[in-house]
Amino acid sequence: MTQKKGSIGVTTENIFPVIKKFLYSDHEIFLRELVSNAVDATQKLKTLSSFGEFKGELGDMAVRVTVDKEAGTLTVSDNGIGMTAEEIDKYINQIAFSGAEEFLAKYKDTANSIIGHFGLGFYSAFMVAKKVEIHTLSYKDGATAVKWVCDGSPEYEMGVGDKTTRGTDMVLYIDDDSKEFLEQARIDTLLKKYCRFLPVPVISGKEQEWKDGKYVDTDKDKVINATEPLWTRKPSELTDEDYLKFYHELYPGQDDPMFWIHLNVDYPFTLTGILYFPKLKNNFEITKNRIQLYSNQVFVTDSVEGVVPEFMMLLQGVIDSPDIPLNVSRSYLQSDSAVKKISGYITKKVASRLESIFNNDRKDYESKWDDIKIFIEYGMLTDEKFREAAKKFLLLKDTEGRYYTLEEYRTLIEPEQTDKEQNVVYLYATDATAQYKYIDNATSRGYDVLLMDGQLDSHFVGLLEQEVKQSRFVRVDSDIIDNLIQKSDKKQVELTSTARNILTTMFQSQLPKQKDAQFLVAFEALGENADPVEITQNEYMRRMKEMAALQPGMSFYGEMPDSYSVVVNTEHPLVKNITDDASKSLDAEIEPLEKAVNDANAEITKTRGEIKDGKATDEQQSQLDKLEADVKSARDKQTELINKYAAGVPVVKQLIDLALLGNGLLKGRELTEFIRRSVSLLK
Ligand code: ADP
Repeated sequence: MTQKKGSIGVTTENIFPVIKKFLYSDHEIFLRELVSNAVDATQKLKTLSSFGEFKGELGDMAVRVTVDKEAGTLTVSDNGIGMTAEEIDKYINQIAFSGAEEFLAKYKDTANSIIGHFGLGFYSAFMVAKKVEIHTLSYKDGATAVKWVCDGSPEYEMGVGDKTTRGTDMVLYIDDDSKEFLEQARIDTLLKKYCRFLPVPVISGKEQEWKDGKYVDTDKDKVINATEPLWTRKPSELTDEDYLKFYHELYPGQDDPMFWIHLNVDYPFTLTGILYFPKLKNNFEITKNRIQLYSNQVFVTDSVEGVVPEFMMLLQGVIDSPDIPLNVSRSYLQSDSAVKKISGYITKKVASRLESIFNNDRKDYESKWDDIKIFIEYGMLTDEKFREAAKKFLLLKDTEGRYYTLEEYRTLIEPEQTDKEQNVVYLYATDATAQYKYIDNATSRGYDVLLMDGQLDSHFVGLLEQEVKQSRFVRVDSDIIDNLIQKSDKKQVELTSTARNILTTMFQSQLPKQKDAQFLVAFEALGENADPVEITQNEYMRRMKEMAALQPGMSFYGEMPDSYSVVVNTEHPLVKNITDDASKSLDAEIEPLEKAVNDANAEITKTRGEIKDGKATDEQQSQLDKLEADVKSARDKQTELINKYAAGVPVVKQLIDLALLGNGLLKGRELTEFIRRSVSLLK
């Protein structure tokens, strides 16, 4: 072989400055590329050997990464198949793609997408090196050693080399601005990141030991990788301890995961991996300890958006697939049909694993439910396929801590909790302590109340309502219990119009005045054993506000005050007393005023009726103005009289406050006043 000079076969004059400039942020991946090439070359030789095409000794097959700070070089060596001069020409000298510069300019933010995908792998060395030498000797009988040198311009030199052993050394003369890659510690970190599970031992530096107060190198080579990571092994050979140990290697310092799924497919795509269900304590852990994606045991990324369904991002572990086009941009990933299939497969697999745990050990499943609930709800909310599958193992938990499937729960509540419209009413609480009174009211009727206190439950209730036919979901404090599950037509409230008027004004005058809450007085005949006053919160408005809190763009609802009903039970003896006493004291004064209001209103109606062509005469208008003023003044007078009277009946305020107290709404000054009033009432 004669010394050969030539130009590297790319269309652009000098690709290297381009590589350097545009791939800046991802410089470190050159090491992944070179080590992967070395591993590939090693694996290829092993394969040839197993087919009998290579008959020599395999010998030590480790890949070595050596830093020589003095010489300023980083060398990646392997004992693999090596290359002949023809092969270098074919694989290295002619980079088989056109329009490189254009392409690089377009994808400048996604260096990963170019490297590998377009065979730039080896050339990524020029991101950190000013000169690269290849010293190689092919495994082929009678092969000649080759030395190839390129200083970063598109020209190279190739000639006979002096390598005497099979394999390849890639020698990188590290550039001044990349000196960090001459630090063993930096190289260790990178190898740990990208090469931790490569199938061939990768050696870099020496094992260290503690001696005379510091760490020093020993003679022992430091192997940085586990060549047979757990996911590549047969599930039948593995114990729970193996899975747990592997989990803790991946995510040090975490609690044990709840369970795991070993993935293993080879048709229609190849995919292996292990997914763990972690115990989630906070969102921070989710973003920190994510699923890792590998391609033939080479770490690629831990941004798995698009590859696994969104809700699976709550899981941890590894996925390894040579079929995912790992090196292309994310938007491409999401539309890729192989990726869609993979995503669908993972969903199915996770669902069937959950179902089998549920079927095989219900007790164990229940004990883990509180922790996996968020994952399952998230999945059901965001993934239609998972939603269908999950209906079989979704659990509902009630306030007594019992767990039911959807079907079981339906069977449980249907007899008692079906309303007159034949809807089955699902009662739920979001806070077992704060809503205790309402829960107690419901359970003492023989109803069951679900506990929906999870992060996603306000959304999830909406989903359940759609999915469960003939159902209504109502929070247990959203109305009085008779209204929540209406069995028959309601009992009418028996109050004369004067009594209703007096009672309304009396209660209104004593309502708490809060900026962010609005109270309305309502009357119900609830029987003498029910509470005299109850506070309920409208389900619809509350849900709207909850949604608003979770979704931007709904601030209209978010800014509205909370709206509560103060439901006065007209059949309660205390309310009856208040009504009777007020009637005795006020009827004589209120009735004439009421008559005045009624008379004036009748006149207003009459006058309005006489207006022709929609236009009142001056006389008619002044008559109307006068009558309206009369109504207002009579009403004001009434209110004034009733308010004055109500101020002397502390029991009204006391009843309201007791109801507020039962709802956790009595706070601050109002609570203090309530306590003082209670004490004085006891005197
Ligand atoms: P890719 O690895 O994506 O094919 P590279 O530019 O990294 O692209 O390498 C081009 C080719 O050069 C490889 O396919 C392989 O045939 C050859 N090659 C690279 N490194 C080695 C090596 N260490 N030993 C043998 N062949 C190698």
